[in-house]
Amino acid sequence: MKRNYLALVTLMFTFLFSSVYAQKNKQQTLDDLFLKNGEIYFSFRIFNRDEIPVLTRIISIDNVKGNEVYAYANRKEFGNFLELGYTYTVLPHPGTLLSESELNMGGNQKKPHSGTVWNFYPTYDQYVAYMQGFASDHPGICRLDTLGTTTQGRLLLSVKLSDSVNVNRGKPEFFYTSSMHGDETTGYILMLHLIDSLLSGYGSVPRITNLLNNFQIYINPLANPDGTYAGGNNTVGLAIRYNANGVDLNRNFPDPAAGQHPDGYPWQMETKAFMHYDTIHHFVMSANFHGGAEVVNYPWDTWAKLHADDTWMQFVSREYADTIHLHSPSGYFTDLDNGITNGYAWYTITGGRQDYTTYFHFGREVTIELSNVKLLPAGQLINYWNYNKRSFLNYIEECSKGINGQVTDTVTGNPLRAKVFITGHDIDNSFQYSNASSGWYYRPIAQGNWALTYTCLGYYARTINGINVTNRNTTRLNVRMVPIGFGIKNQTQKTFTFVYPNPSNGNVHLLLPESGTGSFTFTIFDITGRLIQSGTIDRAGDKVVFPLDLTQLPKGIYLFKLDGGKSVYKNKVIIN
Ligand SMILES: [Zn+2]
Repeated sequence: MKRNYLALVTLMFTFLFSSVYAQKNKQQTLDDLFLKNGEIYFSFRIFNRDEIPVLTRIISIDNVKGNEVYAYANRKEFGNFLELGYTYTVLPHPGTLLSESELNMGGNQKKPHSGTVWNFYPTYDQYVAYMQGFASDHPGICRLDTLGTTTQGRLLLSVKLSDSVNVNRGKPEFFYTSSMHGDETTGYILMLHLIDSLLSGYGSVPRITNLLNNFQIYINPLANPDGTYAGGNNTVGLAIRYNANGVDLNRNFPDPAAGQHPDGYPWQMETKAFMHYDTIHHFVMSANFHGGAEVVNYPWDTWAKLHADDTWMQFVSREYADTIHLHSPSGYFTDLDNGITNGYAWYTITGGRQDYTTYFHFGREVTIELSNVKLLPAGQLINYWNYNKRSFLNYIEECSKGINGQVTDTVTGNPLRAKVFITGHDIDNSFQYSNASSGWYYRPIAQGNWALTYTCLGYYARTINGINVTNRNTTRLNVRMVPIGFGIKNQTQKTFTFVYPNPSNGNVHLLLPESGTGSFTFTIFDITGRLIQSGTIDRAGDKVVFPLDLTQLPKGIYLFKLDGGKSVYKNKVIIN
């Protein structure tokens, strides 16, 4: 007994001592690792993929290849990770791998000019000047939006490209945003290049002219400027993943499964700005660009359930990747299933903007990883543009495929905000709403035969069956909705005669439109609208005919009104 007691005390002492020792060790490790850096990049092995949903809430997983996990962490996150006891390897930070000559900062031109060759990384000031220049040089088709500012006071900028740049005429809204991970810069330059080519091609390239005439395209090339320019405004050479507060912006959004703050941090200024932009627009489709892999990642990231439009998601992702394969060296954009993957199947994350936009704003957003190398040498940027440029346009055009049309009030013709629901298909907020000011809705959907139900408060629901859709084609479905009560009242006034006979000598009968209990009130007006007589008729059972003596009234035309509570009937009556 005593001996056992001693053994227990020894065990406890040993445990206590080793715990203190480990704590001290951990402190030293953290001090060493985070002496100069706010974030580190590292890898480790897992035994089982079931570990990923737990790990993804502690550190920022960047890639999973077999059992090898690549991740980023700030000091607090890495402290928690160390508690789990994994053996890890700290890797060189991807934002530090290029020489100044490989970055080609500022290129050959220090000032932006038209005919720019996009084979360099701009300084921050150049970037802002380019964005302002796009709008000021093309005021009819380009508008600059400032979404907000960052912790360090940099600007979150987006351009709108459309022939109706200052109004919303109901054309589908589309959004590209890049580099919310500041060290994944390929998409940053490719989006500047895309804006430039859309603006310069308008009016001369039919496909581009068509795009700007029929869509409202929004492009934000740089979603995390504090991360990209962490080394100062004149270089992207020390770019980091997180924002200036050490927060991964692609884990900071409300999540359909994990709640409002899945990462435990308050919404960052960048996050709030993009949430607001999503709220004031309705992006039918969107994509956010990253680096570190080469794949289209489609919803959902947060849970294993498939999106209702999983078949369509695979179709547009496949189209994006396959088009690249026709125009790139073999081996490019072939990660996972030859360049496409379901998000959860690759590795789950919570708080990503893809799921946020798709779930909370009824959108269709994918995450596109453009290059295995995060900070691509500037000399390769033109090549990656050439691989991706057709896919950028294809993906935008998918907005207007599937089923679309305008929902209006059948009486007034006014546009309506109606819920557009695919019967037996829609789940998890996959339905759409028509736009309140234009009545237009856009429902990209896979090839097939669909039934659509339209609902709007104050209107009869409408279901339309047998709508046939084929891939990359448009089925136009304009729908007029009937206000509740409108049809009944109108029809009754036209067809139901309740004064009999008519004309008469004043001896008439009132014929009630229905039997049952309750009462009707009747009122009689002369042609000037003056009230002549009124009364109440109590219904009893099946009796619907009631005599009324009006022989004392002067000859003339009278208006009879019969009010049953739910319905009002009017007859014009002649007494002679
Ligand atoms: Zn990323």
